[in-house]
Amino acid sequence: MNNRERFLVKPDQELALSSFDPGYTGKDESKASTKQEMAELSQKMCDLQGLLYAEGRHALLVCLQALDAGGKDGTLVHVFSAMNPLGTRVHAFKVPTDEESRHDFLWRVHAHTPGRGEVAIFNRSHYEDVLIVRVHNLVPKAVWSARYDLINEFEKNLTEAGTTILKFFLHISKDEQKRRFAERLADPRKHWKLAAGDFEVRKRWGDYMKAYEAALTRCSSEWAPWFVIPANKKWYRNLAVSQIIVETLEGLRMKFPKPQLDVSKIRLV
Ligand code: AMP
Ligand code: MG
Repeated sequence: MNNRERFLVKPDQELALSSFDPGYTGKDESKASTKQEMAELSQKMCDLQGLLYAEGRHALLVCLQALDAGGKDGTLVHVFSAMNPLGTRVHAFKVPTDEESRHDFLWRVHAHTPGRGEVAIFNRSHYEDVLIVRVHNLVPKAVWSARYDLINEFEKNLTEAGTTILKFFLHISKDEQKRRFAERLADPRKHWKLAAGDFEVRKRWGDYMKAYEAALTRCSSEWAPWFVIPANKKWYRNLAVSQIIVETLEGLRMKFPKPQLDVSKIRLV
């Protein structure tokens, strides 16, 4: 079984996050043992993204979700930096602005989805609208509970327009989050990352796990799968995410477009 199958949330699988080990690292014991494979995956990711850009038929949307200190930013740096910025975009979703809140919850999301030939990475995503919003009752239950189906339809619509969607939940343990927060508190260069809300969210850990379980169970579809990535070990998280992306892009069987001119007739002077 490869990691694409191992970490996939099967559609309609009742999921208990407590049965996933956030410290899992497969056969690998250390970062050093994955260095070679990681280098090869980065090169493949670079080539495949270049091909996706050149071919212009497919788009890739990657959603990264995690609790605070779960490793979304680190994944961007260590996994996605392999891709060419030309044709790659990242969007970080924050608390909705005034204008955004006056629209339906998908309005601000749609604008940032990738066009054919592009890769877009969402650092947080429309799933916040069934996560933080659900846990903190930011809208009535009748409103957030209708959103799972709306999300599935929205994602279906994107895939029908040529977008491949991959959604990663970076799963860390409560202890690991504490360790990372302590590290941030001890390092003045990381203080900017801390927000009062982070510590509040930690107090509601159990509610967040339930909200994630619901989102992953109800919105892992054939067309837009969720993966639960063991993320206590950053190097393993990077490896697993890279493997799944490479395998998915290879599965698209992309080809360079036919040349626009007869190359054999060109004489360089
Ligand atoms: P960060 O990603 O750490 O910069 O923080 C962004 C904050 O915005 C997080 O606390 C998110 O939960 C919050 N956020 C993102 N999207 C929404 C949303 N739709 N509704 C409420 N809060 C959100
Ligand atoms: Mg934060």
